[in-house]
Amino acid sequence: MTDIRYLTILGSTGSIGENTLDVVARHPDRFRAIALTANCNVEKMLAQCKQFHPVYAVMLNAHSAQQLADKLRAEKLEITVLSGVESLEKVASLPEIDTVMAAIVGAAGIRPTLAAARAGKHILLANKETLVMAGRIFMDTIKQCQATLLPIDSEHNAIFQSLPQHYNGNLAESGVRRILLTASGGPFRKADLKTLATVTPEQACAHPNWVMGRKISVDSATMMNKGLEVIEAHWLFNIAPEKIQVVVHPQSVIHSMVEYIDGSVLAQLGNPDMRTPIAHALGYPDRMESGVQSMDIFKIAQLNFEAPDFERFPCLKLAYEALTSGGNMPAVLNAANEVAVEVFLAGKIPFTTIPTLIRHVMQSIDRREVTCLEDVLAADSLARNTARKWLDEDRQDFVA
Ligand code: NAD
Ligand code: MG
Repeated sequence: MTDIRYLTILGSTGSIGENTLDVVARHPDRFRAIALTANCNVEKMLAQCKQFHPVYAVMLNAHSAQQLADKLRAEKLEITVLSGVESLEKVASLPEIDTVMAAIVGAAGIRPTLAAARAGKHILLANKETLVMAGRIFMDTIKQCQATLLPIDSEHNAIFQSLPQHYNGNLAESGVRRILLTASGGPFRKADLKTLATVTPEQACAHPNWVMGRKISVDSATMMNKGLEVIEAHWLFNIAPEKIQVVVHPQSVIHSMVEYIDGSVLAQLGNPDMRTPIAHALGYPDRMESGVQSMDIFKIAQLNFEAPDFERFPCLKLAYEALTSGGNMPAVLNAANEVAVEVFLAGKIPFTTIPTLIRHVMQSIDRREVTCLEDVLAADSLARNTARKWLDEDRQDFVA
């Protein structure tokens, strides 16, 4: 008989959050959702509260929390409703939970994810931005506070599954030569470069293989997502950037590979469905049913591989530069990207201006060391202000 796991799901109303609850619902004997959190989607949170009866429901802003509390009262559901970033930190570190699914999107995830690390929780990490912004600080906190970490990002979960079972963070000792990090290439892998300036947010979000939140969908279309994932892999597995080879693999069947010094290449394959890495991490070290269909290998028939095209995907190059530069630069890259994606999704800048804006911000800010969360947050806010200033003052074709 396996022990019950008590969960906080940060970002329960998002794509990863919903997939997590889908897996949790298949195993009521193994998991209990103690806390659910969301930004402002009151209706979705209400539906999740009705189905999963958590002890806590947290909405980011007080107005949404009030609306939720009223609706829960009308339903006669006794659930404690909280609001604000401090409440996110609180439910990420409750004594009565052991596991935290970190699935908030963007820099907003850093405080609660770090709170979970400080409280020594078992963290299932989807929020890659935490590692991009504060890789060393986060990994050091995990170690010092005896927290544990499993990757949810499909590529990193695949790498974890393909590494030796007791991998200790030392590639050479483990006989690993390099990592092959696969990427679908997104919706514009083959698009005429001249058409990229006029693509719409809907086209950018129409990923060929995965259904995801809008921010990560745009990141996949620019391949910034793969850039963020190179940084994520660097911190998770202690791998030098030159030992991470990005491989464009349009079918998204191989989720990444590990090459060993004897020439063996181990890969993890499966349908592109996030319930597989989620179920792997939730059940680890056991395997659990996830609801994912068998892979139809005859229908897939072919697997293709291409080298990444840095001219088509300048964001990927910017991410490598930020990683090599280190210090505050990955946080600057991440924040500039978040602003760029937000204004692109609002129809205010062309798709091709996303890398232009990020490059401008990276060139405008001096490299500095970061030693604590405050340094990281300062870099984040300086980058956001620099991006907004460029959008407001310096750019002629910005649609206000
Ligand atoms: P999403 O936009 O679908 O969901 C984001 C969740 O975060 C929602 O619950 C939302 O309410 C909450 N949220 C948003 N802003 C917030 C804020 N300021 N404060 C508190 N909560 C806030 O995003 P997603 O696609 O589920 O992605 C979540 C994370 O997982 C991202 O870091 C993404 O890179 C990563 N990830 C996602 C996928 C995927 O398939 N969707 C795959 C790999 C990694
Ligand atoms: Mg991924």
